[in-house]
Amino acid sequence: MSTSAYDPNNIFARILRGELPAEKVYETDRVLAFMDIMPRADGHVLVIPKAPARNLLDITPEDLADLAKGAQVVAKAVKAGMAADGLTIQQFNESSGGQVVFHIHVHILPRWEGVALRPPGTMATPDVLAEHAARIRAGFKAA
Ligand code: 5GP
Repeated sequence: MSTSAYDPNNIFARILRGELPAEKVYETDRVLAFMDIMPRADGHVLVIPKAPARNLLDITPEDLADLAKGAQVVAKAVKAGMAADGLTIQQFNESSGGQVVFHIHVHILPRWEGVALRPPGTMATPDVLAEHAARIRAGFKAA
């Protein structure tokens, strides 16, 4: 067992407090969605709860329900805005489970037939993220 307490200075907590910038596409009083800075597919979005939680193991059922509902709304907009054929949804728990940022988040990855995910770790330019974010914002009206 290697679970630790929630760290209020993790990157996504700082984005929530407005201390770090993010290309936001959706926000309610419960959730925030923004572009992943190292997208593994064009239009890769992260959805996070505003409530502090490290991952699936410590989030309250109520906050998890809000996150799931937000993820569904955003997923539909991503699929519509990016004209995707499908979606891959990912959520990692603890370092051994692939988690790097310890504020729970749901990855929404648009997918197209025959197009593989890119390897992790390549930063997108702000212009590219802004262009994809604009398509996804339009996707909320189309979804
Ligand atoms: P995970 O913790 O599920 O492995 O993934 C964390 C994700 O956060 C990665 O896909 C990574 O590209 C993304 N990420 C890391 N730092 C930042 C950041 O400062 N801004 C944004 N928008 N995404 C980030």
